[in-house]
Amino acid sequence: MIDRYFIELNFIWIGVAVITFLALIIFKIRAPYGRHANEKWGKMIANHWGWFWMELPALLLFPLLTIFGPRDKDLLTWILVGMWSLHYFNRTVIFPFRLRTRGKKMPLTIVFSALFFNSVNGFLNGYWLGFLAPKDGPISMLVIGGAVLFFIGMYINMGTDNRLIALRKQQSGYQIPRGWLFRYISCPNHFGEIIEWTGFAIAAWSIPAATFAIWTFCNLAPRALNHHEWYREQFSDYPKERKAFIPKIW
Ligand code: NDP
Repeated sequence: MIDRYFIELNFIWIGVAVITFLALIIFKIRAPYGRHANEKWGKMIANHWGWFWMELPALLLFPLLTIFGPRDKDLLTWILVGMWSLHYFNRTVIFPFRLRTRGKKMPLTIVFSALFFNSVNGFLNGYWLGFLAPKDGPISMLVIGGAVLFFIGMYINMGTDNRLIALRKQQSGYQIPRGWLFRYISCPNHFGEIIEWTGFAIAAWSIPAATFAIWTFCNLAPRALNHHEWYREQFSDYPKERKAFIPKIW
């Protein structure tokens, strides 16, 4: 019975993702952190601590539920825990403190909503793998293909995040990023993250992992479109052929 409720919960969460996506696209809402931060959204906290607190539930919940849940753990379980932990260790503990955004703030509203978002995703995936999932079979081509896709996505995501962070080494403020994937799209870091979680969903082949991949797209596609539009507003010489986050398409 619990399995049925759990699956229904995932479908409800996918519904929330789709509604969020449509709302962000239709009403052109710019989530107010990073370049879109503003004080109209209430009390603010330091940018890097905001990132730390909002990502922490994902870093902790998925591995803890998986490891301490009663389900037998096999190789695939450990591979998935490794992939997830690698991404979230960077996002929670390393990425925020490398940002060159001293003095920058983000609204607590964003921190709390992202904290909730990460808690639900960490819980759904961890509870599935720690308590409910059927026994895994041997490592299949699907797992290998998904893991390869995940690491390609991670390479793109971290590599392009690093390039953006490095832009402030030479001068303060925003500049037009150039080179590598920035030649084709404004937000290769978002593109990379979408690929990453699609790869994870393929390797895990579970409803919670697919739900999270859908959420990642629903969150990051509108954010990439917002960033792209923002670049065009800010820089009159912004490359016209550049797309937002899918080369040649979108
Ligand atoms: P951005 O690309 O806006 O920013 C990344 C960092 O680089 C920030 O410190 C930013 O500064 C700086 N930066 C960006 N562009 C420039 C520029 N043109 N010139 C100078 N500095 C620049 O990333 P997001 O905040 O949108 O996302 C950060 C990471 O988090 C990404 O890897 C993204 O994939 C991930 N993410 C994942 C989500 C998910 O649902 N899984 C949701 C949201 C983000 P500043 O902060 O001052 O703008």
